[in-house]
Amino acid sequence: MKIIAVGRNYVEHIKELNNEQPDDPVIFTKPETAILRNNETFYYPDFSQDIHHEVEILIRFSRTGKNIEEKFAHKYYDEIGIGVDFTARDLQSKLKAKGLPWDLAKGFNGSAPVSAFLPKTEFPDLQNLSFRLDVNGETRQQGNTELMLFRIDYLIAFVSRYFLLHQGDILFTGTPKGVGPVQAGDRLTAFIEDRKMLEFDVK
Ligand code: MG
Repeated sequence: MKIIAVGRNYVEHIKELNNEQPDDPVIFTKPETAILRNNETFYYPDFSQDIHHEVEILIRFSRTGKNIEEKFAHKYYDEIGIGVDFTARDLQSKLKAKGLPWDLAKGFNGSAPVSAFLPKTEFPDLQNLSFRLDVNGETRQQGNTELMLFRIDYLIAFVSRYFLLHQGDILFTGTPKGVGPVQAGDRLTAFIEDRKMLEFDVK
């Protein structure tokens, strides 16, 4: 399976990192080895002193597809979840400054904790979902999918022009404002609406 992720998809987050608002979705990928499931512990890597949390709504693809039209995109996924796109911000800033790829800052081991997935039919409107991340019981990030710059079905149409999508592949749909550092000893908890979906420790 593969992970496809979207950067800069919420205006307030673009502003907090002083990035430019993109004309097209900003896309990157993470390898399968980035995934943590079942609330597995995240181990702080030794190559960074500034690992940031980015909480994001996830889409899990349910069938193979390419060159998908936006109006048919909803037929390619049945389930949603929530995850954290861990980012080595110090490393990413260095790479960005040199115009180099972000892979090391985004795709390292354990950089993609994901929740269990729920049927999308349990949520009346996927483009009006509130979600949040708490760190040690204190809310750090809060977002709503209605604030996405590029909406879910548009993103799917866009990425499917470049990547053959398979059942089980996961799309990270971008983070709202409020990203910030984690440290060993933290406990992260992610919610969709008021449902606790994901809870794990940083060591
Ligand atoms: Mg992200």
